[in-house]
Amino acid sequence: MGRVVRVLTQSLLLICPACQRGRMFRSAFRMNIRCPVCQVIFERDSGEVTGGMAINVTLTMLIAIIGAVIAFNTDIAVVPLLLSLATVIIIFPLWFYRHARGLWVGIIYLTGSMFED
Ligand SMILES: [Zn+2]
Repeated sequence: MGRVVRVLTQSLLLICPACQRGRMFRSAFRMNIRCPVCQVIFERDSGEVTGGMAINVTLTMLIAIIGAVIAFNTDIAVVPLLLSLATVIIIFPLWFYRHARGLWVGIIYLTGSMFED
């Protein structure tokens, strides 16, 4: 359990789960193909980017659902609440994009698929 928490935490922090030193991203939205330290390939197949997208969409929808539940169960004015929620729903996935992809790399690492050859 401790290993899973460590790998997922480092993945959220965009640190290579294999060597625990290399950075996953070289710029705001450009992921390194290989770890600059241990040379492991982060996303072996081109379709693996969809795993990070799925995590991002799921968390964004969860925020939207929680916001909707709050909107329908409180006396907060609906229009400002919905405008705030819409702003969060637009900004959150952009901010969390790198972390979602990093988290997916951590999941790939934990399943052992990162080293297939
Ligand atoms: Zn590495």
